[in-house]
Amino acid sequence: MTAQRVLVINCGSSSLKFAIVDPSSGETLVDGLAENINGNNASLSWKIGQQSSKQSLAKATYSVTLKAINDVLSQHQDIVDSISSVGHRVVHGGEAFQAATLIDKKVLEGITQCAPLAPLHNPANLEGIQVAKKLYPTLPHVAVFDTAFHQTLPDYAYTYALPYEWYQNHGVRRYGFHGTSHRYVTQQAAKQLQLNYQHAAFVSAHLGNGCSATAVLNGNSIDTSMGMTPLEGLVMGTRCGDIDPSLHAYLCAQLGLSINEVTAILNKKSGLLGLSGTSFDMRTLEHDYHQGHQRAKLAIEIFCYRLAKTIGGLAMPLRKLDALIFTGGIGENSTFIRRKVLSWLHLLNVHLEVERNANHGATTQGIITSDESTVAMVIKTDEQLAIAQETQEVLCHIS
Ligand code: ADP
Repeated sequence: MTAQRVLVINCGSSSLKFAIVDPSSGETLVDGLAENINGNNASLSWKIGQQSSKQSLAKATYSVTLKAINDVLSQHQDIVDSISSVGHRVVHGGEAFQAATLIDKKVLEGITQCAPLAPLHNPANLEGIQVAKKLYPTLPHVAVFDTAFHQTLPDYAYTYALPYEWYQNHGVRRYGFHGTSHRYVTQQAAKQLQLNYQHAAFVSAHLGNGCSATAVLNGNSIDTSMGMTPLEGLVMGTRCGDIDPSLHAYLCAQLGLSINEVTAILNKKSGLLGLSGTSFDMRTLEHDYHQGHQRAKLAIEIFCYRLAKTIGGLAMPLRKLDALIFTGGIGENSTFIRRKVLSWLHLLNVHLEVERNANHGATTQGIITSDESTVAMVIKTDEQLAIAQETQEVLCHIS
């Protein structure tokens, strides 16, 4: 049987990640990143097998970038010939998309209609789809939405206590994000713990530059920390997470800032960066913490406390907890942050085992807690593979 590989395209607001993945074996054949798209100094880097390469890109629009990627790939015709579909990450699918979907004209219109909810991301996602469809017109293209996994949230979890007409007429509600990752790591956890996913209960904490936590019961997301946009919830690298909604008016009056300026600060200059005044990067902050830097220490204490509080809240509707999962750059790699977070969670009967935590659960199927404890574990997320697998699932259902 010939390989059925998926070209995964993930257009961010100024970057583009791409990969060629075998969804069955999990093998990544090509992995690449274009940065500073639509800006100065755009560049394209990629890895094929063991070989890494990089080139600069002039006048790099998404179209120019995807054509450059196509030129690179066409030098490896055997790999290109094995691509059977294209999977596109789309950030916001609103209420229109409850699962990954084969892209046609109607789906493109649906993604366009969701653009006001994700003004930085959905237009970039759309442009990527349109250019890729021209480059690969004979392949099926599938949209995989960050929000889709959370479409199972009950109304009492997704509705804000606001005039109800705002939800009905303007889509003002909580949607949740990182759905592809939360779904993937909870499925992996069920496999590793030999549990039936349809009868299991998890809280997963995706801790990267963006951070969110989700409660997953019987295979469904039932609550999550992010809201209408990815600004709500946990403390993140540069995003504030939950704050008092009166803050905008207060800051506009006190500082003479516009609403857009305040929003930009809450998104780009807050979180770990705003608190520490030095960095959004957890590795730097951990280093500074141990050097006695007071604001780095405060930033980390707040990050861990707020995360623990959120995990506790998300565990309540589950009624049992098969595992608490840590993933994303911080969740997978930071022994220190996991220890600090778990130290708040004794009420959930979570007890860390120091050695297991130190090697990220490498010899215990990811488990970092003691045998008597509620399980906490580390699962490496793989968003490219998850997108490839969701793409393949859609196409299997159709054929
Ligand atoms: P993104 O959300 O952009 O995909 P990642 O999932 O790569 O981000 O996570 C980036 C975060 O992970 C950064 O804050 C980085 O400092 C942190 N991180 C990566 N490795 C470590 C480590 N060994 N210890 C602590 N934090 C780490």
